[in-house]
Amino acid sequence: MIDLQKKQQLLNNMRILTNYIIEFEPFTSCLDCANWNEKRERCTKFDMVPPPKIIVKKCEDFEPDIPF
Ligand code: SF4
Repeated sequence: MIDLQKKQQLLNNMRILTNYIIEFEPFTSCLDCANWNEKRERCTKFDMVPPPKIIVKKCEDFEPDIPF
């Protein structure tokens, strides 16, 4: 037999968790940037290999790479 009160409590907790996760900023790096050249492994905007800290966190000129 399903305990409806527990089921409702579980659904409420799932809703709270889902809303919490939705608010996370997606993790992006230079590898997700439209200016990143995978073959040359460098930024085409600045024509250089960014420092590791920038590659991991991206820079202010990050442009999302549209995957289609
Ligand atoms: S995030 Fe900045 S440094 Fe990294 S690839 Fe894009 S433009 Fe270049």
